[in-house]
Amino acid sequence: MGSALGLYHFLIQMGHAVTVVSPTNWPPVFSFMPAIKTVLDFESNDKQKAIAAIKECDILFCLDFNVLYRTKNLAPVIEATSSIKVLIDHHEQPQVDAFNYGVSIPAKSSTCEMVFDFIVDSGNDHLINKDVAQCLYAGIMTDTGSFRFPSTSASVHHAVARLKETGLEHWKVHEAIYDSSLENRLRFIGHALLNRMEVIYEYNTAIMFIPKFDLLKFNIRTGDTEGLVNYLLSIQGIKIGALVIDRDEERKWSFRSKGEIDVNAFARKHFEGGGHVNAAGGRSSASLDETVKHFKEVIKLYQRELQ
Ligand code: 5GP
Repeated sequence: MGSALGLYHFLIQMGHAVTVVSPTNWPPVFSFMPAIKTVLDFESNDKQKAIAAIKECDILFCLDFNVLYRTKNLAPVIEATSSIKVLIDHHEQPQVDAFNYGVSIPAKSSTCEMVFDFIVDSGNDHLINKDVAQCLYAGIMTDTGSFRFPSTSASVHHAVARLKETGLEHWKVHEAIYDSSLENRLRFIGHALLNRMEVIYEYNTAIMFIPKFDLLKFNIRTGDTEGLVNYLLSIQGIKIGALVIDRDEERKWSFRSKGEIDVNAFARKHFEGGGHVNAAGGRSSASLDETVKHFKEVIKLYQRELQ
């Protein structure tokens, strides 16, 4: 959302007509982003408008995903459009033939940093205003784990310094995203840590599994489970953290790792997923119990790397 709206606020200043389409709904904590009310949610009543926008546009920027299936039910619409598709993304192994042009740099902290570079490289640094800054800062801050992951390069700090020059109140973005939980979310996290976490010391792995029942009981909304997987890696010595949530349509995995352990490769190989070396996702159509069992089996194949 940050990269799409950051690009939006740049392109409208260039005189373009721009529509942002999201394949799914988004957490309410993003409401601080300027123009978020104009974003079309493909999963809601906006569906027909979203389809028309994608069919009729000249250029379709595809931001922060690099394989079409990540856009879920929107994928066939993107595939079918004759618009020029431009990828800007930082995940591993892009589906190159799905896009007409693109830039894919896994070393970059975030797609927001890449949109920043895109604006600067186009010679339009002067168009980076506070609206652009708020959106891009949100994505850079979240994707770098608040500037602590190894991807937080000098260029990230240079970009943020430039964003600050617009009058960006960075603490407001942080507060909007990280300090606006409802009580039920914290109670849910407490419950998950106490009752749904298993530490497998033999493989330096921690796993958390969330049944649908928990989501309903604690009234968990989109975005409420964000960050939960990071608790697993905060345990001393743990090299892989794996969270699986029983969503309606599938069991959705989040993987996190430390150092050389490549969860992108792991997710691709065992859970129909992908992402980054140290942060990836995947899925399973098996039951929650079955997919957890499967994970515990396949992790044994990595015993040497996990020591
Ligand atoms: P998260 O665990 O935060 O949902 O996702 C971690 C990273 O993996 C993100 O960069 C996300 O875009 C990517 N990711 C999550 N699920 C999938 C998936 O099913 N396939 C691919 N290719 N990437 C995923």
